[in-house]
Amino acid sequence: MTEHSDRKNRRQFIVGGLSGLALAGLAPGRLGAAEAVPNPDPDIVIRKLGATGLELPLVSMGVMNADNPNLVAAALDSGIKMLDTAHYYQRGRNEEMVGEVIKDRSRDGFVVATKARASTVDRSEVQDSNKATRESEESFIQKVELSLERLHTDYVDILYLHSCKSREDALDEMALSAMQTLKKQGKIRHIGVSTHSNQAEVIEAALESGVYEVVLTAYNFQTKNREELERAMERAAAKGLGVVAMKTQAGVFWDKERTQPIPMKAALRWALRQDYVHTAIPGFTTFDQLEDDLLVMKEPTLTTEEAASLETQEKLAGLYCQQCGTCLDQCPADLDIPVLMRGYMYAHGYRNLLSAKDVVNGLGRGDLPCATCESCSVNCPQDFDVRERALDVARIGQVPDDFLV
Ligand code: SF4
Ligand code: SF4
Repeated sequence: MTEHSDRKNRRQFIVGGLSGLALAGLAPGRLGAAEAVPNPDPDIVIRKLGATGLELPLVSMGVMNADNPNLVAAALDSGIKMLDTAHYYQRGRNEEMVGEVIKDRSRDGFVVATKARASTVDRSEVQDSNKATRESEESFIQKVELSLERLHTDYVDILYLHSCKSREDALDEMALSAMQTLKKQGKIRHIGVSTHSNQAEVIEAALESGVYEVVLTAYNFQTKNREELERAMERAAAKGLGVVAMKTQAGVFWDKERTQPIPMKAALRWALRQDYVHTAIPGFTTFDQLEDDLLVMKEPTLTTEEAASLETQEKLAGLYCQQCGTCLDQCPADLDIPVLMRGYMYAHGYRNLLSAKDVVNGLGRGDLPCATCESCSVNCPQDFDVRERALDVARIGQVPDDFLV
């Protein structure tokens, strides 16, 4: 949904009733002031982020899909404290936008988290993952320094090693050493790891490392085999790690036509129902969604009706790929199907077309082999028609950037 089609624009959000002022308990003159909210509404539920010393409202902002600085500013003005971005989101423009919003605010009033990968695949100039190389410790540090420049800040509160899929990824010696150096230099406050697949294994590795302080994990009501993941999250929290949930909205819509939205408040409450989830980073892109998330920040209890409704819906295919990897050995053409399905969700669920294009072209496969495959041998437990989805999203690879931004 674009800014223009959002029921509430920034102005309406500020002067409107329930949202913004009422929730934040602020005097009108404070909104738009060049500082963060010093005294959030006492009704906002706060949890400690493990042993980091940070205390955060239940709801933070995943900025990845947002391109409206007014929305980010409104989130901070309404009591949201943490903004979550990454080096590669929108080819660096996402960090730049966050930097513009926070540059004149009191640095103590917000928390900013970003992410960097151990390979060069998140650099804007590398569009093909086959051409990516491993970062050296020096180049990893330079990458993070570029993030600080874009963000107009001397330090980030959390730096995540981005998108780890295995124990080996999480225990990458170069990255661990570089992040510890950055911490000693005062350029990052806390070291974290983010994961969308094999999350339990990555979280256990984070515990084993003795270095990580925060884990950011995909977690939603559609998560399969969630008992193992929940045990790992609980263990991490008990050992003093901060636990942050992402992908809580599971693709935002059930259908590619975007006629059936995921019940946003219920999905967010579901993820927050465990007290070992310290905060969540829903990727809201409209003022309406912000308003919903602000309500959850004050009233997080999942109702019986909401729980029952999610239970009946959790087995629907939807747009969210669990990144379970079951399909990987099933395709004779060795296609990285989880990556393509992620691109499909970016395109249709998030309407983040540039990221979808980057994901598709990042495969470096040119025309997809699916076009000439007589039948698809992949059996996805989520019931995705993999061939149909792959061919659908592959079309975006040829669309010029200026149509997408
Ligand atoms: S496409 Fe299906 S099998 Fe493959 S990672 Fe996604 S959910 Fe798992
Ligand atoms: S149609 Fe299925 S089996 Fe054929 S290349 Fe595509 S994903 Fe692989």
